Amino acid sequence: MSPTEIRLFQSMSENVGQFNLSGKKVLIPEMNRYGCRLLAATFRSFGINAIVMDTFKGLSLGLEHTSGKECFPCQVTLGDILYHMKSEQEKRGKGFNINDYIYFLVEAGGPCRFGMYNKYQRIVLDSYPEYRGLKISSLTTDDGYSFNGLVDSKKTVDLRKSGFFALVIGDILDRLLWRIRPYEREKGMTDKYMDKALITLETTFERYGEKKNFSAITETLVGIVKEARRIIDPLIPPKPLIGIVGEIYLRTHIRSNQDLIRTLERHGAEVVNASIVEWVNFISYNDFKGAGSMLRLDLKQLRFSNLMDSIKKAIKFRAELFYQEMRQKQVYDRVKQIIDIAPDHRVTHLESLLSEEELFSFEVGTEACLSISGIMEYAHQGFNGIVNVYPFTCMPSTITSAVISPVMGRMGIPYIDTPYDSSLQPGRESAIRTFMYQAEQHMKRKGRKGSMD
Ligand code: SF4
Repeated sequence: MSPTEIRLFQSMSENVGQFNLSGKKVLIPEMNRYGCRLLAATFRSFGINAIVMDTFKGLSLGLEHTSGKECFPCQVTLGDILYHMKSEQEKRGKGFNINDYIYFLVEAGGPCRFGMYNKYQRIVLDSYPEYRGLKISSLTTDDGYSFNGLVDSKKTVDLRKSGFFALVIGDILDRLLWRIRPYEREKGMTDKYMDKALITLETTFERYGEKKNFSAITETLVGIVKEARRIIDPLIPPKPLIGIVGEIYLRTHIRSNQDLIRTLERHGAEVVNASIVEWVNFISYNDFKGAGSMLRLDLKQLRFSNLMDSIKKAIKFRAELFYQEMRQKQVYDRVKQIIDIAPDHRVTHLESLLSEEELFSFEVGTEACLSISGIMEYAHQGFNGIVNVYPFTCMPSTITSAVISPVMGRMGIPYIDTPYDSSLQPGRESAIRTFMYQAEQHMKRKGRKGSMD
């Protein structure tokens, strides 16, 4: 091995992993705006100096360091971190010290390329001598996004619980936005209102996140939702209801998907996107199932030394899922008493739906499980059209498209694939317009159900 290769391997083990965030400036890349900002606020309540980085401004840097074969989210997040570090360097001059920062990046194990983002970004960061010490601290799906090692061990569980709650509230803010914006009394009212609501909730999380005072946070949310209801003009008739599924980053990162939801709304839609928490619950569920399989194998092979470990893991992941679904349901139930936002899907329900339809299997893994079952759920609920959003060449979303397109054709439900990379596709707008025309026809023929029932 050459000295450069040895250095790279060393850097991979020394600078990528789960590092303590205390005393560092924690840099979070933006994915969905509300969830990320509230997560950063939660970190701050625990005394961690976390910020969400500006996004998309460094896209050219991300493209410069990739070949085009990488997934688009990898290019965008790479651009975000490089841009941020360059700006910090300019701002701080001689006072700039790379050891003051930690880059916070979530990762997933196989089978697709998500698990490789942090390794690849490590190589790029190491190509800049001044960024070599920048540690990449990861949350990983392998341990159900535990915060082990990131904070003092006494605070790990509390941080995970409050962080999860921030994601639930972020999802609800998203659902509120999509529910009211298509029916706003005056153009622009919703965006302005939601910007203010986000700041209020950030302050609330900073104050109550560490204390886990979830009732105080819920009360603030309830006040925001009550006020938001007034933005709706009751004279605007219901619009075709469109469900979105797809790759989590692309479907929630507005700049990467060229503000798809707003474009759909401009052509007459009310939209519901799959949530972030659905993915977190899916990870806990998968980890629970994995621990269960390991337990059965231990019993079969009489590996008694491993038995306790497998039992503990199975109980831990099951308890986590139970807690998450309970917490999520409490807030949704409260908000739904005020406004009819779309409910979230239960992972166990999605799995049974998939087995009933015999279209795919949770055993295969990846987001395709959630997207295919999510589409079937939208279809059964009476949505008027479905959009699959994903990075160009994304493996799970391409599988989704191959499995679901003929099914949607048979069911007579308008369906469109919208892959994105950094280019602007000339026919995209007219494809969406045509899709929305079909969705309107579908609503005329079949009516609409879903969030406005
Ligand atoms: S889910 Fe798609 S975009 Fe994400 S790493 Fe896998 S292939 Fe790439």
